[in-house]
Amino acid sequence: MSGFLMPERNELFGFVEQTAAVDDFIWGLLTLSDDALYHRFSQSQIEEIIKESLTCGENEAIRLLESFPQQGPEEIALELGLPIRMVDFKISEKSKIIFFGQYVKSAIVISEDTIKEIENQSKIAGLTGFLENISIKSVLIAHELFHYCEEKNNKLTTCTMKIRIKTFNLFFQNVTPLCASEIAAFSFAKKLSNLNFHPRILEVIGVYGVKPDLSRSIVKRLMAFANKEA
Ligand SMILES: [Zn+2]
Repeated sequence: MSGFLMPERNELFGFVEQTAAVDDFIWGLLTLSDDALYHRFSQSQIEEIIKESLTCGENEAIRLLESFPQQGPEEIALELGLPIRMVDFKISEKSKIIFFGQYVKSAIVISEDTIKEIENQSKIAGLTGFLENISIKSVLIAHELFHYCEEKNNKLTTCTMKIRIKTFNLFFQNVTPLCASEIAAFSFAKKLSNLNFHPRILEVIGVYGVKPDLSRSIVKRLMAFANKEA
């Protein structure tokens, strides 16, 4: 029967298997490497940014769970008066970006189509067991909920963080790395949704069907960081 298995099916399954074992610091490196200033940070600054962002997201999730015990991300968002709008961005190979969710104008916007795509790809790749008991929608809401927390509390580390970098004319400048907020939002979503894997795995799965090369490149870059740090 093995002749009936599509090679792609095994590939995505393998991606999830591989990346599920990667720790949050390495996922943080991947996210930070998308920051325009990444190459201007020293090794110790990179470590500081990632560790502090991970802690910030996790602590904020713990704080919220204390205020709203036994409640999931969706219920918490509604308790906070945040409407959740489900939108339908049709995904195709032509899509420039694949939209997952966004916090915008005091509301959380989540793509229904992307959730369906993640579910569909999981089924094809035989990953339904991996996502069992997990609400993809809740994980996406949780991530956006962190951006709401940042807006409400500008004392959060991701808002106050100042990293000293050298500018081109050799002066120094203090910057707040934009990707710190993303690293923290993933850490927050992981804690709030009680996941045992990094939420960006949903991105690897979600883009695979329409943009397999993007999925491959995320995994390749992540594993390069993992092998370098090992
Ligand atoms: Zn975000």
